[in-house]
Amino acid sequence: MDIKNADANGYFGEYGGSYVPEALKKELDYVASEYEKLRKDPTYIKELDELNRTYTGRPSPVYHAKRLSAAAGGAEIYLKREDLNHTGAHKINHCLGEVLLAKHLGKKKVIAETGAGQHGVALATAAALLGLKCDIYMGEVDVKKEAPNVLRMKILGARVISVTEGTRTLKDAVDAAFRAYLNDTENQIYCIGSVVGPHPFPSMVRDFQSIVGREAREQFLESENTLPDAVVACVGGGSNAIGIFSGFLDDESVALYGVEPAGRGLNTPYNAASMTKGKKGILHGFKCYYIQDEKGEPLPVYSIASGLDYPGVGPQHCLLHDTGRVTYDSATDREAIEAFYALSRLEGIIPALESSHAVAYAVKLAEKLGKGKRILVNLSGRGDKDIDFVTTNYPISEYEGTFGKTGYKEFLSQISGS
Ligand SMILES: *Cc1c(COP(=O)(O)O)cnc(C)c1O
Repeated sequence: MDIKNADANGYFGEYGGSYVPEALKKELDYVASEYEKLRKDPTYIKELDELNRTYTGRPSPVYHAKRLSAAAGGAEIYLKREDLNHTGAHKINHCLGEVLLAKHLGKKKVIAETGAGQHGVALATAAALLGLKCDIYMGEVDVKKEAPNVLRMKILGARVISVTEGTRTLKDAVDAAFRAYLNDTENQIYCIGSVVGPHPFPSMVRDFQSIVGREAREQFLESENTLPDAVVACVGGGSNAIGIFSGFLDDESVALYGVEPAGRGLNTPYNAASMTKGKKGILHGFKCYYIQDEKGEPLPVYSIASGLDYPGVGPQHCLLHDTGRVTYDSATDREAIEAFYALSRLEGIIPALESSHAVAYAVKLAEKLGKGKRILVNLSGRGDKDIDFVTTNYPISEYEGTFGKTGYKEFLSQISGS
């Protein structure tokens, strides 16, 4: 079984594929075949490479988080700093690839859905840079909730289209964006926000994100003279995770961990742990594990981190789960908040709430693996977007409770010298 690449029809094992209307299928087949040519084209490769370096600021460093490691009291923790990318997260990696592809295909406009607005902002950025129009479909509820990101998209020149159907959130935005795409496939192209959706999106987005894993493997070998014992990443749709994992899939000594959002608990309806709580089925044009009712309708999901708040998960992850190459586990809201404060206080790095799930898991894993082992975490984004929410809903004093083995409170009092 090839765990690294999809077959010609876009299947990773039994997952993935393309369950879309015939007209859309035709266009996506065309995109897939053009992409196959372009990804080997030296001009395209050079352009993308140059943008990654001079615009995004790649390579992002691998940083040894010594104080966090000491607080965790076991293995050493290292961070792949995707939070330092222009726009503050890993999403710019696939947005640049997608918009550059659009430009080479002669498209005039890129379109996409967005939930919290992070993908919308990254895509609007890439579209501004490369001179393409950009339409972002966003549920009316989200437009109201995520005002700063709506403003960012508008400043960057994108059109934000408020979707008023259904629950007026992400799912309806996806439907509206696909409808708009079908209306004009000649001038537009859909740029999806993760390793999800019909073929070829999961493979394309994975390719664009795999730079993270390639860099991290090289950087780790260079500075530590060995590979990490474990690699940890948070999983929403799964793009940042597959990006870093793909650098280590052949390295049998490297254990891989995907961390899903357990929200308020796996035994409550308030989580988005698709791999643990989901069943197989077709969602948004591809086969995967997703959280569903008896009729196969996707159920509402929840996470404190809006970027992890998706009922399904990318097809390659489903295969990596079934083959056992990657272990999928979860972290709760509360664990993520503790990690958010811990990384801020111990390392001066405010992580995105999504990334905080990976940090929280790494702290627990560090204790389990013990001294002398090394854990690499994909720090997928920075937390500036989350500071109002966190400080309003989770006041700092409440979180000076336990942290890791040493005790977070004890560690804080050591820092402050009191
Ligand atoms: C969107 C987002 C995620 C989740 O998306 P994946 O496709 O699972 O990577 C994770 N971290 C940050 C910072 C994000 O913005």
